[in-house]
Amino acid sequence: MAIAAYPGSFDPMTLGHVDIVTRASRLFDRVWVAVAHNPAKTPLFSAAERVALAQRCLSHLGNVTVEAFDGLSATFAREHQATALIRGLRSLADVPSEFAMAQMNRALAPQLETMFLMADPAYQHASSSLLKEVASLGADVAALAPPPVIEALSARYRDLRRNG
Ligand code: ADP
Repeated sequence: MAIAAYPGSFDPMTLGHVDIVTRASRLFDRVWVAVAHNPAKTPLFSAAERVALAQRCLSHLGNVTVEAFDGLSATFAREHQATALIRGLRSLADVPSEFAMAQMNRALAPQLETMFLMADPAYQHASSSLLKEVASLGADVAALAPPPVIEALSARYRDLRRNG
């Protein structure tokens, strides 16, 4: 049984993330999407909200499970018997930080392989931060985000505008 973990903030899940999970789900028997708590990053959505959104975006993939986690990706992978950590690369700009993280994870867990999937060119510019920025300014984000995320973003920014 080949098991992979795909860790990230997913604040919120974009179509780029969905594409990476979909492709990983064809390569592995089971994929765990690991939603990092990361309170230091002051996310727009709580970990519970990010998990619920990711579950709604990925419910059509029968071998994918979404879970929140706190701590090291390598620990999450070990606890879920994952032998691979999936990460996505959008451009060369992602390489230095992803390379450093992969080396660190290799030092922490030598038996865990980090595997990189290249972004589909259609979603290369789909980052959670850019998505939030343009959604907050009222842009149509249907090309970047799955429907549950579009709804959640417009509700969140409506509430934020109402509450000043
Ligand atoms: P993190 O805070 O761990 O970078 P993200 O949610 O931003 O969490 O991203 C999780 C992973 O998904 C990272 O490996 C990132 O490079 C990758 N990723 C993000 N957006 C895309 C995209 N549009 N296409 C492919 N991979 C992506």
